[in-house]
Amino acid sequence: MPELPEVEALALDLKGRLTDRPITRVDLAAFSALKTFDPPLQALHGTLVEDVTRHGKFLDITASGLHLIVHLARAGWIRWRDDVPKLPARPNSKNPLAARVVLDEDPQTDGGSGLTPGLDITEAGTKKSLAIYVVRDPLEVEGIARLGPDPLDESFTIEVLDQILQDAGRAQIKGVLRHQGTIAGIGNAYSDELLHAARMSPFKPANSLSDAELQTLYDAIRNVLGDAVARSRGLAASELKGEKKSNLAVHGRTGEKCPVCGDTVREVSFADSSLQYCATCQTGGKPLADRRLSRLLK
Ligand SMILES: [Zn+2]
Repeated sequence: MPELPEVEALALDLKGRLTDRPITRVDLAAFSALKTFDPPLQALHGTLVEDVTRHGKFLDITASGLHLIVHLARAGWIRWRDDVPKLPARPNSKNPLAARVVLDEDPQTDGGSGLTPGLDITEAGTKKSLAIYVVRDPLEVEGIARLGPDPLDESFTIEVLDQILQDAGRAQIKGVLRHQGTIAGIGNAYSDELLHAARMSPFKPANSLSDAELQTLYDAIRNVLGDAVARSRGLAASELKGEKKSNLAVHGRTGEKCPVCGDTVREVSFADSSLQYCATCQTGGKPLADRRLSRLLK
């Protein structure tokens, strides 16, 4: 799933490609992906792209005052095409295409290419959860209106993090970090990564951190996300997924060696999925009990 660093890099890449270009039309191939009806998708036809930004994990293409907002969910992605097919994209359940944004043809005169560039918004797999919105104000999207502070924003100080953790009470820190209404943009992967960087148990109660631990966690959030954004910046959309995967220390690496201490990366179930961690680095060498599994065995 793309998280803050990947969506930030996607937004930057698309900003460079799309700004000041007219959108000819937007084809919807997966009807269930479009979550709004007013303004209609056709309202984007003939608009001029002004900016591409990010709100948490939501991508925002602003065109003539309207916002085309995309939440890529678990398996969504965006692919730039130098030349889109001439025929409009049609609904096809076997095709990962959810929608296609078609830009104005580059005129062949004056050294132009004569090609019609565009974006394919795709979603792999059968569980469809990618969401597209057309709105006049990004805050009309409920998921954006509910977002907590952005951890890379200047206003995200250590005092802000402290307050968030106090308010969360005894909730496990892993869940607090990836809850979008609490902090925007951190998902399953980067919450594993920054807890590993902070040498902290994912099950630690949120309000139990010492001052030193709070500082360590704060630094880990800023550094892990900041470094990932810095590495991703300037990469094309097609290169981002590989870049993310190759730099993760523990997430998705069950059974591999921890790059810090060499212990084996472990996995434990968490909420609707699983998390990865290093027992030596994060839990004093003691493996975490898989609560879901032990409940089943009782
Ligand atoms: Zn380790």
